[in-house]
Amino acid sequence: MTRRTETLAISNGLGSHHTLEVTRFGIPGGRPRVYMQAGLHTEELPGPLVLCHLRQMLTEIPAADWRGEVILVPFANPIGLAQAISGNPIGRMELASGLNFNSGWPLPPDGPGEEARAWLHRSTALTGLGGTRLALLSAVEGSDVVLDLHCCMEPAIAFAFITEGQEQEATRLAAAIGLDAIFTFPPHAGDSFMDAAREMTRASLIATIELRSHQNVAESLIRQDALGLETYLRTLGVIAPERDTDAEWQGICTSYEDALALPAPLGGLFLPRRGIRDVVERDDLIGEILLPVSVNGKDRVAIHAPCEARILSHADPARILHPGAPTHVILPLAPPTAPLPRYFDVTGDWA
Ligand SMILES: [Zn+2]
Repeated sequence: MTRRTETLAISNGLGSHHTLEVTRFGIPGGRPRVYMQAGLHTEELPGPLVLCHLRQMLTEIPAADWRGEVILVPFANPIGLAQAISGNPIGRMELASGLNFNSGWPLPPDGPGEEARAWLHRSTALTGLGGTRLALLSAVEGSDVVLDLHCCMEPAIAFAFITEGQEQEATRLAAAIGLDAIFTFPPHAGDSFMDAAREMTRASLIATIELRSHQNVAESLIRQDALGLETYLRTLGVIAPERDTDAEWQGICTSYEDALALPAPLGGLFLPRRGIRDVVERDDLIGEILLPVSVNGKDRVAIHAPCEARILSHADPARILHPGAPTHVILPLAPPTAPLPRYFDVTGDWA
């Protein structure tokens, strides 16, 4: 039996506890070791569904075919799972602290390596959030590849965030699971799970994968993503026989600084006029905003492309668009000819 499940009780510091399930496959201590988690933002359900499908697939792999080890945490956030207000799930921020579940992760003061691992082993947590983070970092420690599955809350391409320098390994992943794009960040750019995991491993790839929109939960698509991850495990040699991906990857690989979010100048209902992946010309009509109260006699605002660009995502027509939230995220294919408006009250916490 290669499947081993560990159920962790995490105290919330108030007399009760949360439960986190970690499942391991393959040879204990085998290499490569691949860690995959999902559901850190608990409203993003494609990732947990994909890992549950993958868990079933891995259960059926004969013991003799295992070379390395896989660690799966399909539901990495028991606190977020239980949060709701009047029936509406709240899975992005912890209600108690106001923290985004994927930011504010503690980072070791002395940098990565042995010191970081010693720091982790010395650490204790007071709250359920701290305890969950400690448990996840303990599970990821020493992994060779780390994948954190998320998705966008609006229609979007499939893409991954990685650290600069890991492009080659990321390309292999992108080909196996059919990503449209890889976006790079400089090392030590933030305090997300990905940044904390980097301190705990010498992984050749740490990626935050954004599996399209939260609405893309069709079983055929989920199964296809799980099969893609199984293929990726075979390209790494975690499972025999090894398999190469068929085609050379043709997607976009660039710095995330190259992408451009277009903030909504007014709030309202968003009407897309062009689709995801479309290449548009400067001044093309790409969306409209229906205003709840007309402005200067007009009841809608037109959104035009500021330059030739590819559309990576657009606002969800099924949800109210707030002022400053992006109507689109685009990848410019030529520089904008006019300066883009700047607003001091637009934040970047929408990815
Ligand atoms: Zn997320």
